[in-house]
Amino acid sequence: MTLTSDPTDTRALASVALSIRDISRANETETKTCGSGLAQAPWTFDSMPTYGPGASENDELPAAAPRQGALPAEYQQASEAELHERIIAAKQALGDRVKVMGHFYQRDEVVQHADFVGDSFQLANAAKANPDAEAIVFCGVHFMAETADILTGPHQSVVLPNLAAGCSMADMADADSVEDCWEQLTDLFGSEPDAEGRQPVIPVTYMNSSAALKAFCGRHGGIVCTSSNASTVLEWAFERGQRVLFFPDQHLGRNTAKAMGVPLEQMPLWNPHKPLGGNTEETLRDAKVLLWHGFCSVHKRFTVQQIDKARAEHPGVHVVVHPECPMPVVDAADSSGSTDFIVKAIAAAPAGTTFAIGTEINLVQRLAAENPQHTIFCLDPVICPCSTMYRIHPGFLAWVLEELVAGRVVNQISVPADVAQPAAIALERMLAAVPPVRTA
Ligand code: SF4
Repeated sequence: MTLTSDPTDTRALASVALSIRDISRANETETKTCGSGLAQAPWTFDSMPTYGPGASENDELPAAAPRQGALPAEYQQASEAELHERIIAAKQALGDRVKVMGHFYQRDEVVQHADFVGDSFQLANAAKANPDAEAIVFCGVHFMAETADILTGPHQSVVLPNLAAGCSMADMADADSVEDCWEQLTDLFGSEPDAEGRQPVIPVTYMNSSAALKAFCGRHGGIVCTSSNASTVLEWAFERGQRVLFFPDQHLGRNTAKAMGVPLEQMPLWNPHKPLGGNTEETLRDAKVLLWHGFCSVHKRFTVQQIDKARAEHPGVHVVVHPECPMPVVDAADSSGSTDFIVKAIAAAPAGTTFAIGTEINLVQRLAAENPQHTIFCLDPVICPCSTMYRIHPGFLAWVLEELVAGRVVNQISVPADVAQPAAIALERMLAAVPPVRTA
């Protein structure tokens, strides 16, 4: 995945950070990015109760969200070229003792150092498949590092370079609210299976959720899903339950269930701030899928108007979006699928295809650089990365790697055994639910 090995030639990277810096220098931040803070170093925001600049800037950060302590000054002050050299040197010193995971949405300056690059499902499998690594450095967000910790052995440490790299969508479904919802549903439906042996409700959590919610699913006969296997997982759940409680992403749940033929009126929203989620008993009894009121602020930015504009300006354009986008956007696109699906769709297309993509800008910009045979652009004209993925800067990566070289594990993500055990049950059910092979 390395686009350049020359640390002085950062222009060769498909770098969103460099684009933002150029926009900032030209004083065009108001129109071309979603926040002037994007041009600042991410540690500027580590002491602030916010997700930081980017798509989740205005989402409410829970008071209990993990915070990052001060990054040592030497890493804040180092040049990009120096950080690049130090990361390479630390990785060489550590050899196979450490594996670096890089999510598709990470900045290029980080992704170029990853041993594995992929979506959350692929990286969960990669972490599990490397039992000999003493440490997994997870350049992604908090729930991904938790999942890696659950799937790896007790002799392995999982490190998240910046503890403030959470996920605003995952935070929209906290364990207390889900327990409260479950109590209300149990009061309404009881806990006995029907004549066909189906439970009243099967909980399904998206991979983008805390370990506590995965554990909740493990304890209550539920399962985890990803955007790659959501329909397979819903089929699994419908076989075992009369209805599904799907959290935290309403859009993935709605888009997937709709494609499976579930009518919209049988997919009520559950608002955790209202009794019965804001529904009548009758609505809940008729429901097939209860959708938690959560969303991804990155994918919520895509609109049907953007698609109309792309079609008007680029006749023949292929519009492909992520299923975390709102339903009208998915319906207006030519295709939709996980990040892995989008990557494969581009790889399989004949040269000269024009793609308008509805997903995170770091991935779109990298795909455009790696596929010069196509024209690839982001549906959203405004540069707006995922706020939390963007919190991982090469300075944090250099710091955690050099600490490992010195024999110290910093920023370790450790899931307690009483949570990890039931969460692993729900995750193993997911890993067994192999997604169907799809071609673009
Ligand atoms: S892109 Fe959306 S779902 Fe993914 S980490 Fe960022 S906020 Fe969370």
